[in-house]
Amino acid sequence: MIATPAKPAAYNVVLLFGPPGSGKGTWGKILGMMPGFYHFSTGEMFRHLNVESDLGKRIMETMRRGELAPDEIAFDLWQQHLNNATLIGSFHPPKDILVLDGFPRTPPQAEMLKAVAVVKVILQLDCADREILVERLHKRAVLEGRHDDANEAVIRRRFAVYDRDTAKTLAHFPDDLIAFIDVSLVPVQILAAISQTLARRLA
Ligand code: ADP
Repeated sequence: MIATPAKPAAYNVVLLFGPPGSGKGTWGKILGMMPGFYHFSTGEMFRHLNVESDLGKRIMETMRRGELAPDEIAFDLWQQHLNNATLIGSFHPPKDILVLDGFPRTPPQAEMLKAVAVVKVILQLDCADREILVERLHKRAVLEGRHDDANEAVIRRRFAVYDRDTAKTLAHFPDDLIAFIDVSLVPVQILAAISQTLARRLA
């Protein structure tokens, strides 16, 4: 009997991990501007849900507390958005590199992702001094009007949720995929570190 070839993975992916204020959204957007890259943020996906809908209301409440949305909902919405982006021709998998910002955030999400994607590299954006990140979040709250960045207790809760889930989630991927990027450096140095890592790993 002729073996059926394995179904090719739909997505080639770069993962961005980082606590609130680490800049993963900013760097994700910058990478998404490069030809052949497509950036997708689950945080933005949730922030754009219609708050008049039951689902939108429920998720908004969860975000206000600094907690995560349920895994199944995160995965289903993520798939729907990427299917739509593929359908309208703004995203071309598997040719385009998908830059994922904020997904996966839990072990079940990691397994869901692995079923449909090949992870090429994981950029772990962080720094030793979390107070630098708190400072950046305060600035962002004022500049962008993000309600989840305005409240100190919610920020601390989001750091705690990040620390609780990240190591467990990263454990679902081989160690050698992970590159640590120190975000306490100035932007041009961070850009250099990210570019060098991607040039090495995606060549
Ligand atoms: P941050 O990393 O600064 O918390 P994000 O924009 O990535 O900001 O996420 C904002 C919020 O959206 C999270 O606190 C969480 O409530 C929700 N969220 C984002 N991504 C996910 C995900 N993959 N699973 C569950 N909830 C998520």
